[in-house]
Amino acid sequence: MLTSNLGYPRIGENREWKKALESFWANDTTEEQLLATMKELRLNHLRVQQEQEVDLIPVGDFTLYDHVLDMAVMFGIIPKRFLQQGDTPTLSTYFAMARGSKNAQACEMTKWYNTNYHYIVPELHDAAPRLTKNAPLEAYLEAKNELGIDGKPVILGPYSFVKLAKGYEEDKLQETIQSLLPLYIQVIQELVDAGARSIQVDEPSLVTSISAREMALVTRIYEQINEAIADAPLFLQTYFDAVTFYEEVVSLPVKGIGLDFVHGGAKNLEALRTFGFPEDKVLAAGIIDGRNIWISNLRERHELVHQLEQHVAKDRLVLQPSCSLLHVPVTTKREEKLDPTLLGVLAFANEKLTELHTLKQLAAGNEAEVKEALEANDDALAALEKSGWRSGAATSHNLENKKRPQSFNERRPVQEEKWQLPLLPTTTIGSFPQTKDVRRTRSLWRKGELSTVEYERTMKSYIEKWINIQEELGLDVLVHGEFERNDMVEFFGEKLDGFAFTANGWVQSYGSRCVKPPIIYGNVSFTEPMTVAETVYAQSLTDKPVKGMLTGPVTILNWSFVRDDLPLTVIAHQIAEALTHEVTALEEAGIEMIQIDEPAIREGLPLKAEDQQEYLDWAVSAFRASCAHVKATTQIHTHMCYSEFHEMIEAIDDLDADVISIETSRSHGEMISAFEKTTYEKGIGLGVYDIHSPRVPSEEEMLNVIRRALTVLPASLFWVNPDCGLKTRAEKETVAALKNMVAAARAAREELKTKA
Ligand code: GLN
Ligand code: ZN
Repeated sequence: MLTSNLGYPRIGENREWKKALESFWANDTTEEQLLATMKELRLNHLRVQQEQEVDLIPVGDFTLYDHVLDMAVMFGIIPKRFLQQGDTPTLSTYFAMARGSKNAQACEMTKWYNTNYHYIVPELHDAAPRLTKNAPLEAYLEAKNELGIDGKPVILGPYSFVKLAKGYEEDKLQETIQSLLPLYIQVIQELVDAGARSIQVDEPSLVTSISAREMALVTRIYEQINEAIADAPLFLQTYFDAVTFYEEVVSLPVKGIGLDFVHGGAKNLEALRTFGFPEDKVLAAGIIDGRNIWISNLRERHELVHQLEQHVAKDRLVLQPSCSLLHVPVTTKREEKLDPTLLGVLAFANEKLTELHTLKQLAAGNEAEVKEALEANDDALAALEKSGWRSGAATSHNLENKKRPQSFNERRPVQEEKWQLPLLPTTTIGSFPQTKDVRRTRSLWRKGELSTVEYERTMKSYIEKWINIQEELGLDVLVHGEFERNDMVEFFGEKLDGFAFTANGWVQSYGSRCVKPPIIYGNVSFTEPMTVAETVYAQSLTDKPVKGMLTGPVTILNWSFVRDDLPLTVIAHQIAEALTHEVTALEEAGIEMIQIDEPAIREGLPLKAEDQQEYLDWAVSAFRASCAHVKATTQIHTHMCYSEFHEMIEAIDDLDADVISIETSRSHGEMISAFEKTTYEKGIGLGVYDIHSPRVPSEEEMLNVIRRALTVLPASLFWVNPDCGLKTRAEKETVAALKNMVAAARAAREELKTKA
């Protein structure tokens, strides 16, 4: 029995990867320096896996930004706006696609299946695919030559690649895949020629609700590959849920099939029991959770391996994590401050690989060799049980179906009366630039090098500065700026009970941006007001309304590592209950416009259509519960971004928020088209500019977005705002962009007046 890994975190134990990228982008290092650092990291990650005795070590999973972008660039799928004719892609083309450049808007970025990892969406419409290089081959040879590792190249399979891309007609799926197939075949052939003995072809889209017709198409694709290269050692890899067409998938003409026995594990296992597994294939079984940070119950996992062995011979069984370890931090080794009981039940990437090794030994009957590891596992789990952190979990029943007593149409006139806002009110999403200064202030205070009095004084000075800027800009609804927050989830988690924080538990979110998800280890509850002081201070400086700014229950849940002993709905409602206290505290302090952000509501959506409604029901219920008790005049806002929200407009409507702001510009206006088909009759602001780029959009550009939006949405309910919070931007460009935004809103108001 062999062990395998599907992907290793790129960011490095100390986020060296992030630092290298950012200093290159800031022109502090050269391209040569960047590439040298990246190579060092890449080899290091391979060495770690070698030391952990992983049998099949993935290569080519490393990237300089995103693995989907890598595939697009390898296949020459580079939108014309990034290339002068005849140009071959350079590193700056690559980063321009990811981040935008002076002349070209970045490619769209969206969430990778149901995770908080964002990939760069390939644009197929004006592409003429060609092979610009064979990146997996380069990775394979590097590992072989430098470290003597016979690695397992990882590529994103043709079906999933095209499903994740945009810019082709639905009914042209087959032709589109066909146009890429010769390139795939060449890449694979060259790998085989170079001696690769296993090639991981990721096809996570096979776990989504695909049609029988599409499944037949997938079969045809893999037959064609097989006809071109007989016996290519392909491991068709799925993850994040059970495959939809088990029998068809395991019949594909490949050497191995990778199935997730953790997420969707019950369904996969049941299918395995019912239909068996082909004798000539290898089953790569994901038996350790690659998406959460808890240690495995090794005895239980061993029992699972045992069950798998009833259907697959030992020598054709490969043990592996359920998905790439990209979704968990690198190692728990440096977590010195955590409670030992909690630390005892945590396993990040490296620790998960150790677990795999133990399970392999167990399966091989070398029980004696892993006796200590097993006992340690028993002890850690027993200690957690004994801690009592998880006992007496509140049930969610008292909050289910809570709803504001008045309908939106009843609230609307009383709110208009109260707020007296102009037509097309302008606002921002919450955060203002987190400059070096801001971050330094927070970090000095955290380290105890700055007194609380001094810290609060400085925070107030930032708030004051930005209230003044917003007033000068002429924005209608202001925000305090979120300077006290390093992260929209961590900030709340730190003040609620039931959360723990790692020192170094970083995970890549998009590009060089990493997040450090809190750990919900026990029951969540409210302890003290979290946002009232800053918001009230901001409000004291202006006559314009200041929006209170909270993170919603579903986002807090989805962006945390969550205890795995309770249904998610119970935890979501626990968080919602805690937030009700904060909402009340704000309202009592006179803050009666409150934004409850839910940018992550979409990513929790199950991948299979049949599971989605249940999720939406409890997610919507948790959001509504957090603010159901406010006065009719209190205006509840929410905000969402960087997901395919156009598919869930009904659920968004059900949230019953008075105003929603949604990112629109980064996704090139897709949301606007969505409203051609559905009506939306509550307050809504579609982001009029992308905030990921330092580029300052012109007034005309934003006016055009507003004009387009007003063809599908009523002007009387429309708001003007950027796509998302501005914390990653510099001050100068923020002010310049907002100035143009306010001018665009004014121009649009004028146009409406003349029309009327
Ligand atoms: N209020 C948050 C901010 O402006 C929202 C961030 C987000 O949507 N991710 O930063
Ligand atoms: Zn956002």
